[in-house]
Amino acid sequence: MKNSFSSTKAFEPAAQKSSGQANSILLCALALALGGCVPLDEAALPKAAASQALEAPYTKLDPGYKTSESLHFIVKAYSSETTQRYGALCEEDYQRIMRDLGIYSFVPSRPYNIVIYRDAPEYHLKTLQPDWSGGITYGNAILIYESDGSAGILAHEMTHLVFNEFMGLSAPGEVRWLNEGVAVYEQTRADYRSKAFYDEKISNDISLNPIPFSQLMNLVPQGQKDAAVERWYAEAAGVAAFMLRQGGSLSFSYFLNRIKDGRSLDEAVAASFGGLWKGMKDVERTWLLEIKR
Ligand SMILES: [Zn+2]
Repeated sequence: MKNSFSSTKAFEPAAQKSSGQANSILLCALALALGGCVPLDEAALPKAAASQALEAPYTKLDPGYKTSESLHFIVKAYSSETTQRYGALCEEDYQRIMRDLGIYSFVPSRPYNIVIYRDAPEYHLKTLQPDWSGGITYGNAILIYESDGSAGILAHEMTHLVFNEFMGLSAPGEVRWLNEGVAVYEQTRADYRSKAFYDEKISNDISLNPIPFSQLMNLVPQGQKDAAVERWYAEAAGVAAFMLRQGGSLSFSYFLNRIKDGRSLDEAVAASFGGLWKGMKDVERTWLLEIKR
């Protein structure tokens, strides 16, 4: 069975080489304060985290926890107030993601599980994730603890759950930039500090020295969070936001559907946006004009 993981990052990971795991893992680390999801392959993971995660990173909350169910989510936490508050937040995120991506008609096969640990120590103890991790996505669940950045993290990880299920991908390699791009975009919609961070990154860094699309799409960063990785996430999010803004949600949903059907990115772009772009080269050219304005 393939698993898809996203882990949310607080500190620099003490990444070690490990080997011997048969399954491939997509792990995404997100900076707790600023947001920036870093995909790591399992080789970059501390061994304990990788091997444990393959079985089930979820160790239950202590006895007495509360559960609340909403339309699309089952939320577990230590108080009814928290489960209800996060249930409402999850539904808000969900509606926004569906609306933004134009995929309202998509219905997930089963409710998503959201587990909210009391705090960072409990989260690390029970998920065996490394110190830098502040949240993890696996299967159809998000494990998280309450923090200042948790609203953004939740929106980011939920976008991955929806995107992966919608696209039918357990490890969406070739559209990783798009997957992360829309996830960071939704994160900035849910968390104003993330928005400020990425806006600043685009205007003071990416616009001066953009990553060529050929690299954006083909050289997906593997490894811990650093400046180059932050740049990759910022640009992926900027491009996804640009395509959504210029093309509109309906066209964007056609675009996603065509990729899902196996069309190339160029074919999907040319066929989905009413003649706005002939291919990704065109998207790149017009996006560069916008960010350099
Ligand atoms: Zn991510």
